[in-house]
Amino acid sequence: HAKAAGKAQYRIFQTTMHRVALQLLQTESDLRRAISQQEFSLNYQPIVALDSGKIAGLEALIRWNHPDRGFIPPSTFIPVAEETGLIGEIGTWVLREACHQIRNWQKQGVIDPTFSVSVNLSARQFAQLNLMQQITHILAEAELSPRCLKLEVTESAIMDNPKSAADILAKLRQQQIQLSMDDFGTGYSSLSYLQSFPMDYLKIDRSFVMSLDGTEEQLGLVPIIVKIAQTMNMKVVAEGIETPQQLAQLRSLDCDFGQGYFFSKPLTAEKVVELITSGCHW
Ligand code: C2E
Ligand code: MG
Ligand code: MG
Ligand code: MG
Repeated sequence: HAKAAGKAQYRIFQTTMHRVALQLLQTESDLRRAISQQEFSLNYQPIVALDSGKIAGLEALIRWNHPDRGFIPPSTFIPVAEETGLIGEIGTWVLREACHQIRNWQKQGVIDPTFSVSVNLSARQFAQLNLMQQITHILAEAELSPRCLKLEVTESAIMDNPKSAADILAKLRQQQIQLSMDDFGTGYSSLSYLQSFPMDYLKIDRSFVMSLDGTEEQLGLVPIIVKIAQTMNMKVVAEGIETPQQLAQLRSLDCDFGQGYFFSKPLTAEKVVELITSGCHW
C-alpha cells in the first residue's frame, strides 16, 4: 500500500514539476516578447507622510498585461526574469519610465521638486556592474535630480554579496540617490549588517503591520522595528496599512510614512495624478 501510494505521489510530483518547468519556459519566451512589444506598464502607489497625512512620494510597481494570460503579478515573473537575466532590460525600462514620468509631472506642476519616486531593484540588478553609470545616464537624460529617486533594495539582495553591496550603496549615496531597505524583517541579515549598510529609509514588511489590529499586547515587533530605525537615523515606512486601527497605532508609534490599501492601491499614472491634484489627505 505504502509503496503504491508513494509511487502515485511521485508521479504527481513529476507531473507538477514538468508543468512548472514548461510554464517557466513559456514565461521566459513571453517575457522576451513582452519587452519588445511593450506589454509592461507602471502603477504608482502613494507613500503618505503620517504626520500631515499628505502624499509624500510614490512607489513604482511593474505591471504585465499578457495578451492571452491577462495580468501576471510581478511575484510570478520577476523571479523568472532574474533566472534568465532578462531583469537587466526590464529593470532599465522601469528606471527610465519612472524617471521620465516623475520629471513630466514636475514640469506639469502636478508635484513639487521635493517629491520622489521609489523604484525596486532586484538582487541581480543590484549586482550589475554598470548599475551606477546606467542610473546616472537615465537621470541625466530625464533631467531629473538624483534626490527625486529612491531605490528599494531587500536584505537578501545585499546579503548575496555584502562586500560589493557596501561599495555600491556608498556610491549611490554619494550621488545623493536615496536608499530604502525593503521588506525589512523578512530576510536573513543581522542587525550589525544593517549598521554597515547605511540607508535613508527602512520599510517594515506588511507581515508585521498586519499584527497591529490586535490588542496593545499584540503590537508584535513593530514598536521595536520603529525604534531600531530611529536609533539608526533612518526614516520608517510601514507597508501594507489596510485599516484605520493600524494607521492609528503607527501614528502613536511615531512611524514617519505609510503605504497600503487603506490609502490607495497602486494606480495607473492617470489615476494617481487625479488623486494628487484632488489634494486628498488622511
Ligand atoms: P514590494 O516592493 O514590497 O511592493 C509592495 C507590494 O505590496 C506591491 O505588490 C503592492 O501592490 C502590495 N501592497 C501594497 N499595499 C498593500 C496592502 O495594503 N495590502 C496588500 N495585501 N498588499 C499591498 P506587487 O505590485 O504585486 O509587487 C510585489 C513585489 O514585486 C514587490 O514587493 C517587489 O518586490 C516586486 N516588484 C514590483 N515591481 C517591481 C519592479 O519594477 N522591479 C523589481 N525588481 N521588482 C518589482
Ligand atoms: Mg518595494
Ligand atoms: Mg516592500
Ligand atoms: Mg513586500
